[in-house]
Amino acid sequence: MIKFDNTYTNLSHVFYTKAPGHHTPIAEVVVFNNALADDLGLPQDFLLSPEGAALLSGNALPEDAAGIAMAYAGHQFGSFTMLGDGRALLLGEVISREGRRYDLHLKGSGPTTYSRRGDGKAAMGPMLREYLISEAMHGLGIPTTRSLAVLRTGEWIQREKLQRSAVLVRVAESHIRVGTFQYAMALTNHDAVHLNALRQLADYAIQRHYPHLASAENPILAFYEAIIARQAALVAQWQQVGFIHGVLNTDNTAISGETIDYGPCAFMDTYHPDTVFSSIDQNGRYAYGQQPYIIGWNLARLGETLLLLLHDDPDQAHALADGAYKKYAEAYQKHHHENFCHKLGLYPNAFPSNKSHESESHFKRASALIDDLLKRMRDHQLDFTETFVYLTLLEALRSESETVSAQAENLVQQYATRYAVLSDWITTWQQLLSTQLSENSLEYTKVVIQRMKAHNPCVIPRNAWVEEALERCVTAHDYTRYNELLNLLKKPYAYSEEQLSVAFMNEKAVTTSKNYRTFCGT
Ligand code: AMP
Ligand code: MG
Repeated sequence: MIKFDNTYTNLSHVFYTKAPGHHTPIAEVVVFNNALADDLGLPQDFLLSPEGAALLSGNALPEDAAGIAMAYAGHQFGSFTMLGDGRALLLGEVISREGRRYDLHLKGSGPTTYSRRGDGKAAMGPMLREYLISEAMHGLGIPTTRSLAVLRTGEWIQREKLQRSAVLVRVAESHIRVGTFQYAMALTNHDAVHLNALRQLADYAIQRHYPHLASAENPILAFYEAIIARQAALVAQWQQVGFIHGVLNTDNTAISGETIDYGPCAFMDTYHPDTVFSSIDQNGRYAYGQQPYIIGWNLARLGETLLLLLHDDPDQAHALADGAYKKYAEAYQKHHHENFCHKLGLYPNAFPSNKSHESESHFKRASALIDDLLKRMRDHQLDFTETFVYLTLLEALRSESETVSAQAENLVQQYATRYAVLSDWITTWQQLLSTQLSENSLEYTKVVIQRMKAHNPCVIPRNAWVEEALERCVTAHDYTRYNELLNLLKKPYAYSEEQLSVAFMNEKAVTTSKNYRTFCGT
């Protein structure tokens, strides 16, 4: 059995409705995350029993489970809509071994009050996809909701074509979204009862995610600033690995700072800021290069919902929100610069000796180098992940402190012609690295390589691999490739022999990716 704690249902009843779950012909766990279950202190024997499967599939909700669909709103592609969990339910909260609170949430668990015209179900392919990509993101060290299990239900549902239905068991620090605040704000109309609900939501979110801010001079302002800081860091991490979320609607931006709601997401291969995979994103609103702006836009919408709580005087409330919001662009730029410096083994700002004029010139040189590299990668259609793997191996080979495997040495040789287009850029980069080195001890060479490896994943969920693995699961019930992929992506910075053997793109993979399209699967 699982012991659920349910703090969300202490909020005003406007924030949720009871969700009935559903009755499916079967409930069978097809993928299960033992390590995560262990971290959460969940009883695995129970979860893998028929009773456990009945719970995880939404067929049997125990007395102490919240069993609610959460209400929220959202700007979907810019248009405001009242939404809510239309095919999901919150089972309840559990406390991990480390004492952290997590939501256990089912996706594809049947219709709710918020289903609108939907059937409340989810298809197997997209649920397996969310499991795989969210776990890959976790492996990459990026804050994300996690996946505990996928269950098959024995039902078929109509999408573009008939598909098997499934339930995903999702684990999140919470499911409070920018859209949850927009929902509360939309209800207020400045009436006292609903204003109180909005205040309650903010207090709850502060207690749950930013408890240290409860005693700040203006906790709401501090809360807004903290979310801005987390989101700036998050989107900079996405950019660093080429992750494209695909539907960054305000309901898919979490207050906790976790990546949430994996739909038509995919990793960019050939570098281009305009890269879009989602079939419904026709204007490129959520393209790779747009993500930092869109997160900013979503944070501005969040700011609007907090105005009434920020200050009694509307002008002062606006001034406070504006002041906080202005910090977003700066915070993002700082992370972006730091992350890309790390990818190139460079110090982001200062040398340890910190002579300010030198630091400034280093900053400028590093920025120019990053911009120049990205421009060349775009012009020459280089693969984003592979380029940084190549540069990492190249630097390891150059460094005297590293022992480089024959495999790595061969790869650098083999792909030298592909990267010849960067040769003069590489010379400038190596000169800058050498300047750093002369400033520092020899030991520093080791740090450079470590830093590059820690910021340049050797493997990401390649589109062709993901599609192939999902296809086998869905059509042949064969999870071998899927599980291999999950394993390969667990420690993407390991630079293992196995990872290096698939790190470089062949022509076929490049071509497959050119026409790659992803679907919401809703
Ligand atoms: P998503 O694309 O998963 O972020 O979903 C956007 C909104 O549509 C959310 O309110 C979902 O609950 C709802 N939704 C998506 N698919 C379905 C479905 N099959 N049935 C009911 N509601 C759905
Ligand atoms: Mg969503």
